[in-house]
Amino acid sequence: MTTVCWFRTDLRLQDQPALAAAAAHGPVIALFIASPEQWRLHHDAAIKIDFWLRAVKSLRTELEALNIPLKLLVINRWDDVPQALLAFCQKFQIDQVHCNREQGVYERRRDRAAFRLLSDHGIALKGHQGGTLLMPGSVKTGADAYYRVFTPFSKACKEKLRTAPYQLTPAAKKQLAKGLPPSDEFPAELNSLLGVTPEGLQQAWPATTEAAHARLDDFAQQRMAQYQPDRDFPAIPGTSVLSAYLAAGLLSVGQCLHVALHMNQGESDSGKRGIVVWINELLWREFYQHLMHGYPALSMHQPMRPETNAVVWRDAPDDFKAWSEGRTGVPIIDAAMRQLLATGWMHNRLRMIVAMYLTKNLLLDWRLGEAFFMQHLIDGELAANNGGWQWSASTGADSAPYFRVFNPLSQSEKFDPQGLFIKHWLPELASLSAKEIHDPSPLARRAAQYPNQLVDLKTSRVRAIEAFKGLR
Ligand SMILES: Cc1cc2nc3c(=O)[nH]c(=O)nc-3n(C[C@H](O)[C@H](O)[C@H](O)COP(=O)(O)OP(=O)(O)OC[C@H]3O[C@@H](n4cnc5c(N)ncnc54)[C@H](O)[C@@H]3O)c2cc1C
Repeated sequence: MTTVCWFRTDLRLQDQPALAAAAAHGPVIALFIASPEQWRLHHDAAIKIDFWLRAVKSLRTELEALNIPLKLLVINRWDDVPQALLAFCQKFQIDQVHCNREQGVYERRRDRAAFRLLSDHGIALKGHQGGTLLMPGSVKTGADAYYRVFTPFSKACKEKLRTAPYQLTPAAKKQLAKGLPPSDEFPAELNSLLGVTPEGLQQAWPATTEAAHARLDDFAQQRMAQYQPDRDFPAIPGTSVLSAYLAAGLLSVGQCLHVALHMNQGESDSGKRGIVVWINELLWREFYQHLMHGYPALSMHQPMRPETNAVVWRDAPDDFKAWSEGRTGVPIIDAAMRQLLATGWMHNRLRMIVAMYLTKNLLLDWRLGEAFFMQHLIDGELAANNGGWQWSASTGADSAPYFRVFNPLSQSEKFDPQGLFIKHWLPELASLSAKEIHDPSPLARRAAQYPNQLVDLKTSRVRAIEAFKGLR
């Protein structure tokens, strides 16, 4: 019998448990199901969809080298996926489908429905752990609860990974070509979503596993050991810029961990500080994935701290528009938003600053920012995005305390001291001195036609603290 490997956010051949398991069972057909309408409902950015589809094209070439054909289905809504999957299996006489598990509630609902329908027809749907270092649900407190605080969670993960190190799954081997259908061409519906990203950005984000590994190797050789001091400065290329590759699964988090451990004599807690800190970031990713699994409500716009449902967010669409277009009059915020709009990516320090400004100084609902980020990020990923927004809004697990509101001007002075990042994205301020650029004088603003600040930072900070105070 033939087996299916159903690719989703795991568009790679190496360290691919679902593919390896499918290949162990019999000849494999690869399947990718595109769901443009569902993607739109989930606010997936056009740049991200383009990146994914380019990655699928490249995956098809890699699969064909192993004689594994890639079939493509366009099923607009996930509700219709189980039936389509069943028809597909029946057409090609499939008795097993393998996939790597995803943590979002809608993804799990889709998979459960597919599991039930397929098993009613004697076909097995088998899930594997391909997106995390440890199985979500396997890292719990002594009271058998999900960790809600990062540090003990990360300690528990490291302990588990010390006793049972993450094993990379061996790559699938070339199979015999006999008796399998050919790969599919891209249908018109998908071609219209491909290549919508400007040429320069497509080159900046090559969607191949080869490019992903080249980035990882380059980061490991050139910058990983320096990650600790450099990572907070957006004008320095101090971080890996691998998030889009991890989100689409061109690279597995296990592959990243292996390289980091290799560069640090196998240590995750000692040795080179930069590497230890980078491993911790991989564990933040892990933390949010596990939380998403443990608290399905997170996928449904609910805060981790239910009492924060009582916060009265402002209704100020013009302020939201100014924030989203980079017109707040706070240079670091506007520069960051322009980076996002122009490249589909934003530096982590800036994500925290703009998210805190939106949810505290503007007192606008974090869900607006969460959706806006998803609509524009090439690395948009439900768990990390939700975690980052809830952290900044003080509504999440282990989030920033509500009374510790970042001052965007001090953040700017601290993390972009020469104003190099601001000057790059706000060329109208390029002639200002390093001292003035963080908060230009009224005269300089007028000369540069740069807006005044949307809100007073001091009074808006107090307003935010008042809005959170006394919540039970
Ligand atoms: C408001 C907000 C929204 C965010 N939205 C997303 C998102 O949609 N997708 C996304 O991948 N990350 C998101 N992050 C986390 C983080 O900003 C990005 O992962 C990081 O900027 C990506 O750059 P990098 O690949 O150079 O990261 P590096 O610093 O090199 O880190 C390596 C990898 O670790 C993971 N990682 C790092 N920091 C975090 C973190 N704080 N939380 C979770 N994972 C992390 C990412 O997979 C990243 O690629 C968000 C953070 C905030 C504050």
